[in-house]
Amino acid sequence: MQQLLTHPVVSGLILMAIIGALTYRLRFVDVSGLISAFIVGFTVWYTGGPAAFTLLLFFFVSSGIATKFKYKAKAKQGFAQEQKGKRSWKNVFGSGLIPMIFSVAMYLSPLFSSDPNMAFYMFGGFIGAVATTSADTLASEVGIFSKGKPRLITNLRRKVPRGTIGAVSLLGEGIAAAAGLLIGLIVVIYGVLAPELVPTTDPSQLLLIIPLSVLTAFIGCNIDSLLGAAFQNKFVCEICGAVTDKHFHCSYETKYIGGFKRFTNMHVNFGSSGAGAAFGIVLGAGLFVWILGGLFFWILASSSN
Ligand SMILES: [Zn+2]
Repeated sequence: MQQLLTHPVVSGLILMAIIGALTYRLRFVDVSGLISAFIVGFTVWYTGGPAAFTLLLFFFVSSGIATKFKYKAKAKQGFAQEQKGKRSWKNVFGSGLIPMIFSVAMYLSPLFSSDPNMAFYMFGGFIGAVATTSADTLASEVGIFSKGKPRLITNLRRKVPRGTIGAVSLLGEGIAAAAGLLIGLIVVIYGVLAPELVPTTDPSQLLLIIPLSVLTAFIGCNIDSLLGAAFQNKFVCEICGAVTDKHFHCSYETKYIGGFKRFTNMHVNFGSSGAGAAFGIVLGAGLFVWILGGLFFWILASSSN
């Protein structure tokens, strides 16, 4: 019986059923969001194990709470997510697809690479992608409450109305970095308490995790704002002047003004989490090489005298 329960398929199904029922009841997702969250969640549980799954769960729960946070105040001003903050399959795949791909790549890494560190690099990509999407969601859901007016990422001297696509604020940037820090801490706690659940080949790799997660969260979140400002379809609110992706703002219909009509927030999320993942791999691999290089010269220097 115990053997059956600890089988990853059985434990995964039980876990997804419990989390699915809870989040559906809390109205974090609609039916399409529930089904896609099940696919992403189960795949990450099976291929990435408990550590990777915990990161995904952190994203899912924290963004659900942040979306609900002061929802009424956000809805009143037109910043809120549509359909009462319930996320659909577009939101779930927009944020979950890239992490899922890296979780599968981590699992399959022995098949396509003889490098024993490949699983760790793929894990770096996974952390980078989850850190980016978490930072982006938390920063945009909470950053709206920043006291000062936000500024446009493509022109930092320009102050813009709240809720503008590509708007950034100090509060949002701080929250992005904090999200990265929390994600890094989760991985480090796993690495210390249950190292077999983290694909490191050397304990020193754990030292890379927090810089990796904070930097990817911060940079990925800003890449998201940049992509949004550059490509996303934009509508202008004729009441407050905000440039938004929402069809309604200040309780009036907005006017389409530009951007690529088919380039939605989902595509922006694919782009930024992909960039976050790429950066995560570079940091995981590059910094590691750098540390090894430093160690090499240190040994060289100390052996010469
Ligand atoms: Zn408005």
